[in-house]
Amino acid sequence: MSLKIKKWIAGLPEYVAGRTIEEIKEEYGINQVYKMASNENLFGLPEGLAEKIKADIENIYYYPDAGCTMIIDKLAEFYSLSPDEIIIGSGSDQIIEMICDSFVGPGDNIVIADPTFPIYEKSALKCGAETIKIPQADFRQDIKKMVDAVNEKTSILFLTNPQNPTGTNITGEEFQMVMDNAASDVLVVMDEAYYEYCPEEERVETIDHIDGRANLMLLRTFSKAYGLAGLRIGYGLGSKEAIAALNKVRLPFNVNSIAQRAAVYALDYQDYIKSMSEAISKQKEIYYNVLDGAGINYVSSYTNFLLIDAGAKSREIVEGLLKKGFIVRPGENLGYPGYIRVTIATDEINKLFLEAFTGLYGDTYK
Ligand code: PMP
Repeated sequence: MSLKIKKWIAGLPEYVAGRTIEEIKEEYGINQVYKMASNENLFGLPEGLAEKIKADIENIYYYPDAGCTMIIDKLAEFYSLSPDEIIIGSGSDQIIEMICDSFVGPGDNIVIADPTFPIYEKSALKCGAETIKIPQADFRQDIKKMVDAVNEKTSILFLTNPQNPTGTNITGEEFQMVMDNAASDVLVVMDEAYYEYCPEEERVETIDHIDGRANLMLLRTFSKAYGLAGLRIGYGLGSKEAIAALNKVRLPFNVNSIAQRAAVYALDYQDYIKSMSEAISKQKEIYYNVLDGAGINYVSSYTNFLLIDAGAKSREIVEGLLKKGFIVRPGENLGYPGYIRVTIATDEINKLFLEAFTGLYGDTYK
């Protein structure tokens, strides 16, 4: 007799993890490997932060603060919100999971773009819910169609600004359209994992809409700009009603103590965040110039990564890049076959990458 696994879980695909630096070193016999596949902050930590984090290791025999009080209070002050409008997760991934756990079950659906960040779908399917997927239009979320697709069984509309895997944005007008048209009982989630990378003049100040809207939730993370991906900490900002619902499914010690404190320290490094984000913008210009010069198409990005058209033989190019020590994300895994997604790194690494990539591209299509 087989085990009584829930029928909607049995059919789910297993997560395919990306390749690690160690695996690639061993497989190809190389010493230097650059992982440019998961959009971390490849500039590393701001100066002094690692030392502060290290000092906290002494206390890990205690459970963490179940209420995440320090970081919630710090974020409340930072954003001028009330602590009960904030929730902390072990990465914003976990908040997406909590949102689905609280808002959807069999018979319900979520509306998402296609393709988009895969955790929305995974979390909804895990709860037995369905997904309504609206194809992207010219690499952008088709906001009008997404809003129109909401039906009486829809509990959540997931939007991503800027988006992964394309790096494109949602404009202020588009966001306003969502706010004006989304039914008040549908939770609108704005996943803003890459917010800090978006040039200031292009940002949509969604925070201003939290007060007075029960159905808006923003997601941000310390994994990207703040450089804390390995610690797993992200946060949600939303109405008291929505946050209270998430707190009902949140496990007591869901965020480790090192991560909670590291996030408190990290928020004080705003000068670093600003200068690093400006440096990324400059590096993107270098990418655009080199790629334009080589006649290679790409999608202009508001994030720290770039979706590049590597053509029909992109798999060969990805393999060639691995041999040279560059791990990038193949577009086949992201819903854009023929493309690669590469995380923008420091000037030195970007130069090496661009040389390797344009060289391989030229050899492959000569
Ligand atoms: N949302 C988007 C759009 C992402 O790209 C990511 C990370 N890849 C996340 C959320 C999750 O980030 P984390 O769980 O590390 O906070």
